[in-house]
Amino acid sequence: MKSSLLALAALSFAFPAAAQSSGTREAAPRTPAEHAADAAKNDTLAWDFVDGITTEIGPRQPGTEAEARARAWAIRWLEAHRFANVAQEPFDMPTWVRGDETAETIAPFAQPLAITALGNTASTGPAGITAEVVHFPSYAALEAAAPGSLAGKIAFISHDMRPTQDGSGYGFAGPARWTGPGLAASKGAIATVIRSIGTENHRTPHTGTTTFPEGVTPTPAGALSNPDADNLERMFARAGQRPITMRLVLTPRWLGTTKSGNVVGEIVGRNRSLPPVLLACHIDSWDLGTGAIDDGAGCGIIAAAAKRVQAMGRPLRTIRVLFAGAEETGLWGSRAYSAAHLAEPFYVGIESDFGADRIWRLDTNFTASDPALYRELAAAVAPFGVAPSREVATGGADLNVVRDQNGALIDLQQDGTRYFDLHHTPDDTLDKIDPAQLRQNVAVWAAVVNVLANRAEPIRRTSEAEPGNR
Ligand code: ZN
Ligand code: ZN
Repeated sequence: MKSSLLALAALSFAFPAAAQSSGTREAAPRTPAEHAADAAKNDTLAWDFVDGITTEIGPRQPGTEAEARARAWAIRWLEAHRFANVAQEPFDMPTWVRGDETAETIAPFAQPLAITALGNTASTGPAGITAEVVHFPSYAALEAAAPGSLAGKIAFISHDMRPTQDGSGYGFAGPARWTGPGLAASKGAIATVIRSIGTENHRTPHTGTTTFPEGVTPTPAGALSNPDADNLERMFARAGQRPITMRLVLTPRWLGTTKSGNVVGEIVGRNRSLPPVLLACHIDSWDLGTGAIDDGAGCGIIAAAAKRVQAMGRPLRTIRVLFAGAEETGLWGSRAYSAAHLAEPFYVGIESDFGADRIWRLDTNFTASDPALYRELAAAVAPFGVAPSREVATGGADLNVVRDQNGALIDLQQDGTRYFDLHHTPDDTLDKIDPAQLRQNVAVWAAVVNVLANRAEPIRRTSEAEPGNR
């Protein structure tokens, strides 16, 4: 008896709202803080978006028919959730698609390797190429190679990428993919293989784009999975003076100019003459996975946050969501949006494109120039475990328009510790999303967007990029 009374007392302490209302469900949230807290516990909208787009569409490579189906799907979803002014803004782009992709070492140790082609690279032709491999343990080692020294060779660029919470490992390892193949080609290489820009040890190569400098003819290039890159490094250690030869078959092709597009929708504010709050993500994905963390989750988070703010009452400012097209192969949508909307002022830009793990830090580019607003935002997100910082926000890839206007930007920094385990691989699928962390994202976004969309004053910005802010 005594123990069951104690249990009852504990229950009513744990669920005071339920105990005081009908006894079966919690009271409806009223204040912005209660709405955000409710989103953290109960949001289902962000999950509905990312579940829907990964299940009904899946891969949605820029410029392809699959991306067009994703746009149509997103428009139906936004309309079903009563966004206003839902529209598609088309643009043209050059479109690259994957072909066959195999790699094998021929001598002195023969075995197949897991590889995937990098975006914007050339074809080996269906017969493939066979050549000696030259190993560069780092990008710096490739930079030091003499001009012409790679003539007729395949360059292998390795590197060391480690997971970091802020994703900074990408900045150190990324050049191997971003410009490594072009650098190798400029020194005569006929093809390049890199160690995947990734932090896991699965046989899932990581794709992504590369760019070749002006005047350098693009070559075939691909990323080996991390265990295959390990294997190739061990072959070099065991081969001694014997050359390592590799056969590569990579047959991507260009489809020429095709259509892509941006998708927008709005929660219309009470005062349409005030600049809107712009929330961005990208609707395209790489073709290998189903684009759950990159960036189906981001679009779900921003749309769910916009609806949550609307549920608190019609906001003062319009909230616009921008689902940018064709981010992965060169920010085509972000650039097209900036070209079309540069003259239209935006109050602030925020993007979600770093997976679905929890937000841990609040960065802005007005922390020093508008400390009162920063303090208000920091207080709104503190209940969700988000730390303040003095880092200067630079905005995400899909916010070119705000950057081009030198406007206000916020980065809601997500935990990137496991992002590069999955990034641009076949493993970017829905099951990798933790629903509780996805809801925390929605809660933090709702808290931030609610402050901004209901604020009349301009954001105070210094003319230069926040001097003295670090
Ligand atoms: Zn992305
Ligand atoms: Zn990406």
